[in-house]
Amino acid sequence: MGNYDIQVSTESCTGCLRCQLVCSDLYTETFNPSTARIQVVTSSADCSIHFTEACNECGVCVDHCFHGALQKMKREAEK
Ligand code: SF4
Ligand code: SF4
Repeated sequence: MGNYDIQVSTESCTGCLRCQLVCSDLYTETFNPSTARIQVVTSSADCSIHFTEACNECGVCVDHCFHGALQKMKREAEK
């Protein structure tokens, strides 16, 4: 379990893919959205956002979403 509980607001997503680019850069050292641990799928009518099993909930993608489509809540430390 990661540091953050990440919430998504798909209605605010523009499909810019900044989140995917920053995640792929951070963890695969490439700017390749398909390797990101967050996957955004947009169509003219809809948007879906999901996280792969490899996501460690570091929250970095949230910091790079400028459209308010991702939010993070700090988890309480486990006892
Ligand atoms: S929380 Fe971290 S690991 Fe998960 S998708 Fe975002 S940047 Fe990638
Ligand atoms: S979640 Fe944010 S950063 Fe990712 S595609 Fe949507 S608007 Fe862009």
